Amino acid sequence: MKNNKNVGKYLFAKNGIKVLPEIINHRRKADKNICVFYIDHFFKDSKKFEYLKEKDDLVFFVDTTDEPKTSGVDSFVKSLKGYRDKICCLVGIGGGATLDTTKAVANLLTNEGKAEDYQGWDLVKNPGVYKIGVPTISGTGAEASRTCVMMNVEKNLKLGMNSEHTVYDQLILDPVLSETVDRNQYFYTAMDTYIHCIESLAGSYRNVVGDTFSENSLDLCRKVFNSEDMMSYENRERTMLASYLGGLAIANSMVGVVHPFSAGLSVVLDIHHCIGNCIVMNVMEEFYPNQTEEFKTFLEKQNIKLPEGICADLTDEQYEKLYLSTVIHEKPLANALGPDFKNILSRKKVKEVFKRM
Ligand code: NAD
Ligand code: ZN
Repeated sequence: MKNNKNVGKYLFAKNGIKVLPEIINHRRKADKNICVFYIDHFFKDSKKFEYLKEKDDLVFFVDTTDEPKTSGVDSFVKSLKGYRDKICCLVGIGGGATLDTTKAVANLLTNEGKAEDYQGWDLVKNPGVYKIGVPTISGTGAEASRTCVMMNVEKNLKLGMNSEHTVYDQLILDPVLSETVDRNQYFYTAMDTYIHCIESLAGSYRNVVGDTFSENSLDLCRKVFNSEDMMSYENRERTMLASYLGGLAIANSMVGVVHPFSAGLSVVLDIHHCIGNCIVMNVMEEFYPNQTEEFKTFLEKQNIKLPEGICADLTDEQYEKLYLSTVIHEKPLANALGPDFKNILSRKKVKEVFKRM
């Protein structure tokens, strides 16, 4: 039984970002008036969001070349030393990486220790600092979810702070903001939500709540990816909503075979989450036949080319690492294939699947 926490408030509107200063001002108090912004580095030169900053506010640009690391989160927290008692809220403006960074920092401002101390389930004790999420690219569902994924390099562990305290207090969902996203990236990230939903619907953990969010999210995805211009304003609106619903879907169910294989690619070849999922989805015929076929029609319709041959010639050691970092995800694999999934996903089978990518 799951007792779910939703995002506190959300505003879904064209140019909704214009309401952000008012929302922030509402949080400001005489002795607690600093707003801290975490903004994706893509916006650094354009100064697009500079107008949001008031006198004492702090702005940090998040380098999203790599996915968030626990060490990066810790250093953001360190840079707020001396300000803690004066912070009224945090604002994350960007994609999954920036949204997750902001969530993690918010938790660590009210919970002692380091980011790695809270990687796991329900380890965060105190509610974090009030946080506002503003997605600028859609698909991961990070805006809706109760986790923030971070790589712990020393422990070779990619895991989030799964906690109800990680859920955003406020979202601004403004489809205008995703206008500048690179076309390929837009496709890869949006497909994360498609994949969350098809995995969720095909799993044994499915239920009426998760199914309803998944089905609605998939309807929106299909409209977008069967259309002529997946990045028109109306389609960016649909993708933003699909991502939010997909995040809720996964909060009520579980992923399946694609995410564990994608995690393998991430650990061994450092491939990012969303493009990794697409590379895996493209070879999932035996696990998700109809969905794989549909995915290929999206690729063709939108003229998106995926990297090929990325696992064709790896060392035995790399294939072994790929196998281990895939089958370690027992819950999603059991959700998709049953408790005896290791009989299906033998070393030979896993290697064969990776070789097709
Ligand atoms: P991202 O944050 O990794 O950004 C992808 C790229 O898009 C970056 O180069 C960024 O600079 C660029 N970008 C973002 N917005 C832009 C805009 N408006 N215009 C131009 N460029 C823009 O994107 P993502 O794919 O949304 O997120 C992936 C991350 O999300 C991974 O770190 C993954 O682990 C995480 N994730 C989190 C959850 C969760 O529930 N918390 C779920 C899935 C994935
Ligand atoms: Zn995902």
